Parts: sequence; structure tokens; C-alpha cells
Amino acid sequence: MSQKSVFPLVEILKQNFPYSAFIHSQEKILKLVLQKKNVLGLMPTGAGKSLCYQLPAKITKDLVLVISPLIALMQDQTQKAQDLGIRATFINSSLSAEEKQKRYEKISKGEYQLVFVTPERFRKPDFVKSLENINIDLLVVDEAHCISQWGHDFRPDYSQISEFAKILKNPPLLALTATATGETQKDIVNKLNIQNDFELVWAGMERDNLQVEMSEAYENEDKLELLLKKLNTEEGSQIIYFLLIESLHKVSVELQKRKIPHKVYHGDLKNDQRRQNLNFFQKNDRVLMLSTPAFGLGIDKSNIRQVFHMQMPGSIESYFQEIGRAGRDGLPAQAYLFYSENDLPISMEFIKWAYPEKEYLQRVFDLLSNYKTQFFQEGFDFLREKLSFKNKRDYRVEAAYHILARWGCVQPLSLLNESEPKDLILRAPNSEDFTKENQKILFQHQNKKLLEMYQLAQNKDQCRLGLIYKYFGGPYSECGRCDVCLQ
Ligand SMILES: [Zn+2]
Repeated sequence: MSQKSVFPLVEILKQNFPYSAFIHSQEKILKLVLQKKNVLGLMPTGAGKSLCYQLPAKITKDLVLVISPLIALMQDQTQKAQDLGIRATFINSSLSAEEKQKRYEKISKGEYQLVFVTPERFRKPDFVKSLENINIDLLVVDEAHCISQWGHDFRPDYSQISEFAKILKNPPLLALTATATGETQKDIVNKLNIQNDFELVWAGMERDNLQVEMSEAYENEDKLELLLKKLNTEEGSQIIYFLLIESLHKVSVELQKRKIPHKVYHGDLKNDQRRQNLNFFQKNDRVLMLSTPAFGLGIDKSNIRQVFHMQMPGSIESYFQEIGRAGRDGLPAQAYLFYSENDLPISMEFIKWAYPEKEYLQRVFDLLSNYKTQFFQEGFDFLREKLSFKNKRDYRVEAAYHILARWGCVQPLSLLNESEPKDLILRAPNSEDFTKENQKILFQHQNKKLLEMYQLAQNKDQCRLGLIYKYFGGPYSECGRCDVCLQ
């Protein structure tokens, strides 16, 4: 790739892509990547992350390998790369055995420039063998916060990536994430074993078009009043986030009374209805959506003008991710948080449910082992019944199931449709599982994150966005637009 030194990077861009300029920190990251440096890039969604691996893939004679946890996005990412003339493919569990074999063969012949895989793929000897005689130009770790137990979406297979890198003869690494605190960043580079040899690029986290406001309310009626005062459905779309479906319903009724059209999105809706509402939101310019936090992941809607939080989010990471969905088009957008002291016990209950204690996990495993058929017939409600938690909102059994699946003790939910009751149990959880992923420590850690979010809301002296940037290890600077700055 000697042309690199001859041409400025932007010429390579213009020659190979339908873009005339880089955005955000793409150029900074690419310069380092092309110099074969290890890079940790903190890049918010919408900052043009994909070009950071598409460009090296397009100009390399070798292979750029992307490790990603998001199976649902792989096909789309591959398609986009192919549309740019990159020989790209993906390999995950959605493919048939023959199709996988075909792609392994093509990898070993060096026919691809860009391949997307999940970290679990490295458990398959066939896949590892296909890479044996291949030169890896760049190993990309997408959603790199999944490496860290302190991140908000830990994936145990991610912690073995440095082992994979060794198998691949230690190619340069590019780790990318949108949300990682200083602590998580440290953990990422340590686990990747590049702590002594990497460059950190803190890429354009600033949201210059976002106006943030946080207000304390004493009662739910006060929150409603604040909402009605700030809500502006004249322009673009709006999202109102709720932790509890009950409070979502109540606000929905109030909006109906006032003839304010809106859609809802939450776990109690039938799949069809949820999909329909999501579609409506994506297809129409002006939609007001009331939803629980899961809504918005993977949604690329540029004209969201307002994001409201009616309860305290569980962490600054979640909060920043959710308000980051507003104003992707760069035009002015607003984010309002209405919180009260009463939110704290609710959020703490959620955290408690997400990290069930050892005894609870063991009980769920025993029930699954002893009542396989019933579980297949009645699903999670059966477990809830057995554990005598009648509260439909208590999703502790789901959390426990996911943890057991992650440890390899039970069949993952995604494979259950194809399985029989006899295939449900894989192995009993052992003491190593419990120490490796100590739920009590994770629970305490998440509580700390919740309190940090609470402190951010309570703070009346420092710029809200400035504090968030600092939380993510960036420089503190005043935005001049948040409620504290304007005070
Ligand atoms: Zn500010």
C-alpha cells in the first residue's frame, strides 16, 4: 500500500468512495489504522464508524476481519460494503452448514476483503482453519464495551479476543465503541492486551445541537405538567421514555384526552402491533412515540427533535445513548429529564432483577432441569409461577435464563425453537461460573452507576453535557445551552 504515502488520505477516499470529505474523526482514526497502530476509538452512533473499516478493506490485498455481537445488523453491514464495491461477507448461525462451508473456503482462498463474524465463531475449528494461511490486515472489535464486565452489555466470548488475535498472528487492532467510561476503556485495552501500545481517539462525542434540561418533580402530575409544557409535536418526531409500562399507559390516556396523536411501544404489545408501530415511526416524518428504553436501538431516524425521560435512566451510558437518538440531522434538538426521588427504588428494583443472586440462578436451573416439558409448553410464566412471583413485570426469570445460556448451561433462547425439551440442559453451573461473573459485584456496580446518574441530575453547578463528556474520559467543556449553563 505504498500509495498511502503518495496521496493524502482524502484522495484515497474520493477515488474509492462516493464521499468528498471525512466526517468527525474518521480521518484521525484511519491515519493511525493505516500506520498499523492499535486504536481505541470512542465514536457515537452516526459518526461514520463503518468507513473506518470499509476504507482499509477496500484498499487492502489482505483481509479485514470485524468481530461484532450484532447478528441482526451483519447482513445489512455486508450489503452496504458490497454496494461500495468491497468483497464482503458475514458468517453467523443464521447460515446453513453448506453455506458456511462455502464461505470458509472462499476465506481460505483469500477471496474476501471484509468479513463480519461473532466472537463465538472462533469456537469453530473449521472457521479458525480457514484463516490459517490468510494475512489479516486489521482486526476490528465492534461494540468493544462488550469486552468489559463494567460495560453495560458484557459478552464473555469477547474477553477471549486477545487469544483470537494471537491465533491470527497479532494483527493491528481497531476497537470501536459509542459508550465507555474511563474504567471501561482501561478494561478494554487490558483485555485486548494492547494497554502499552495503543492510541485513544475520542471522536466527536460532543452534541452541539442538543439542548439538555433536567428537572426534579415531586409527583407524577408535576411530570405530566412539565411534559405538556415542553412537548412540541409541530416539528419532526419525539420519543418519551418510561421505565414502567404503567406510567406509559397513564400518560397515553392523558394525551388521548387532549387529542394529541401518538404511538406506543413496549413489551406488553403483541409482536405484530409492536412491529406495526415501529414501522409507522420509521415511515412517517412526524410521530410522537411513547416507549420503554429498548425502543430506538438500531433505528436510524434523523429528525427526532425531542427525547423525554419520565423516570431516571439506570446509568449515564444509557441516558447518553438514548438522548443521542435526537437531532442526528444536526439541527437543534432537545432532551428533557423529569425525575423524582421515587424513581430511585424503581430503578434499583430493575437492577436487582437483572443480576439475580446465586441461589436464584441455581433454583432456575434446577426447575429447568426437572420440568423441561412444562417449560417448553408454558414458557417463562411457568417459572414465575413456580418461584411464586406473580408479578408479571418481574423479569428476573428471563435474566436468570440469559445468564445461564451465556455460561453455556442451557440452550440459548434463539435456538429453542429448533430444539426439543431433551436438548434444553447443557451442563450444570459450577463454582467457576459464579466467580467469573459475580452477580453481586455487578449488581453493586450498576447501583453505583445509577447513583452517578442521580448526581448528574441533582447537580446545579456544572454543565450537564460537560460532566457527561468528563464521565466518558473526555475534556470538560461548557455547552452553553443546558439548563445549568443558561442559569
Ligand atoms: Zn451546558
